[in-house]
Amino acid sequence: MHSSTKTGGKGLGASLREMLLDLANLPDEGWPQFHRRYLGVYIPWPSNEDLVNWRLWLRQVWKGEDDRDVRFALAAWTREATRHDRQSWVFDASRTPYAVRPNYKILALSLAVGTSELLSKMAVCQNPGCPQPYFLRSRKTQRFCDRPACSTYGQREHKKNWWKEHGKEWKEKREGGKKTRGKHGKIKKASRGVLAERP
Ligand SMILES: [Zn+2]
Repeated sequence: MHSSTKTGGKGLGASLREMLLDLANLPDEGWPQFHRRYLGVYIPWPSNEDLVNWRLWLRQVWKGEDDRDVRFALAAWTREATRHDRQSWVFDASRTPYAVRPNYKILALSLAVGTSELLSKMAVCQNPGCPQPYFLRSRKTQRFCDRPACSTYGQREHKKNWWKEHGKEWKEKREGGKKTRGKHGKIKKASRGVLAERP
């Protein structure tokens, strides 16, 4: 019973995540796909103007440059969700234990709830060539999305920066290290000599 509840929650979470990622990364020519994919899922379907605005707000929130963007978007989506006495909470009798949950069919409410839940994971891929730069990070320090091309780009950048910062230091240490190795070599030879002298 517990596991089915869990799966239900996870499934919902997964689709919410997907929708947020889809909308944030949606190119201007991608609106027809977005319509096809979600038209029957979200009721009532928002106006084109709303959709364009919400994508913009979501991107601002995702970039995380200013807390005011988050406050503004969350307040506006919540207001939109409860307009015209919309039923923003629903009683879910389809699973046990019974639950009351947000009405995820309202797109604005899904955006508000999804953003609240995923805000700390929202990050923008630092690869300037990334085709879908809005992603959810799995580590706090993750700066590149999981696309192989972006990880490779990230590793290259990391190496470049590392050399810029530590290259000189590393070279000096390495030269120092050579001397030490030389010393050890001598010690080894000497000990070998001692061994050789043994009967
Ligand atoms: Zn990327």
